[in-house]
Amino acid sequence: MMNICYFKKTSVLLVLFLFNSVTWSQDSPNIILLIGDGMGLTQISAGMYANGNSTALEGFEYIGLSKTSSSNNLVTDSAASGTAMATGVKTLNGVLGISSKNVRQKSILEICQDQGYKTALIGTSSIVHATPASFYAKEDSRYNYQNIALQLSKHSIDMFVGGGSKHFMSRKDKRNLIKEMSEYTFVKSITEYEKSKASKIGYFTYFDEPPAIIEGRSANLDKLTKITLDKLHLEKNPFFIMIEGAQIDWGGHDNNLKYVTSEFKDFNAAIQEALNFAKYYGNTLVVVTADHETGGLALLGGKKNRVFGKFNTEGHSATMVPVFSFGPNAESFKGIYENTEIFEKLKNTLK
Ligand code: MG
Ligand code: ZN
Repeated sequence: MMNICYFKKTSVLLVLFLFNSVTWSQDSPNIILLIGDGMGLTQISAGMYANGNSTALEGFEYIGLSKTSSSNNLVTDSAASGTAMATGVKTLNGVLGISSKNVRQKSILEICQDQGYKTALIGTSSIVHATPASFYAKEDSRYNYQNIALQLSKHSIDMFVGGGSKHFMSRKDKRNLIKEMSEYTFVKSITEYEKSKASKIGYFTYFDEPPAIIEGRSANLDKLTKITLDKLHLEKNPFFIMIEGAQIDWGGHDNNLKYVTSEFKDFNAAIQEALNFAKYYGNTLVVVTADHETGGLALLGGKKNRVFGKFNTEGHSATMVPVFSFGPNAESFKGIYENTEIFEKLKNTLK
């Protein structure tokens, strides 16, 4: 009798397995992509000096350089560059997930989902801001925040952490997307986030854009990273996660070096957590890069732990940005290439 029951249960599982188009295998690697928005080589250098002359980036195996121009401008914005890295096509500044030939593109996050990966997005801007939105939204303008929020509400990303709940609950169409997203558990604090055992979690850190660390935000991107990686590790599936240090860019726009270095330090600690995870568990590719440099920053002097710099613009610049990689397929990230190649290299890492 017991044997028959066991047999039936196995058959049901087998049928479920066959009809589920899961294509990941036991050796499919995890992917951790970390994007420092506006983080050029001088932002890294300034942050490193401010951090006692050290950075987690020193623990990486390979270094490359990414050419960041968009389809219509030598100087990209975060939407075009995010789209290039997330989907492998160049597009116009301001556009999310749609090529310059007006074709909607599947992102690396979505390709991973098709293969049965768990997915997560965490960062220090709102979750509808250009960089995270590049991984799930298809939208003509990055500033259509309410449309982008609607697209996230209909997406199936497993975990997301960021600001901007107002775009979900204080809307022109009067909808409350948070109520509509019934498959998600929404948590209200980092402690609740850590404790939650839910398989789909949304954590809105702020109603609007999160403030800067120098204006009172806790420097906890490392904790958020560790909590999220620990949750993803409990799943049997492999995972893809994008973690953004969003406000390195905002410090550059403000021409405020203290803003830049404090946000870099927060991001640097998250990079260290990601690297620790990959070194401990293995089979995890970690890639750290930027979408572009912000501020045309030059470092001109300083003393121990204190650096003086000069900004040349309140906008972005066209300089190449570094790419650091560790883990499976990391060697393919060495060299000089277009930012669209980052998508190709990530895709080639999948098995
Ligand atoms: Mg950004
Ligand atoms: Zn910017």
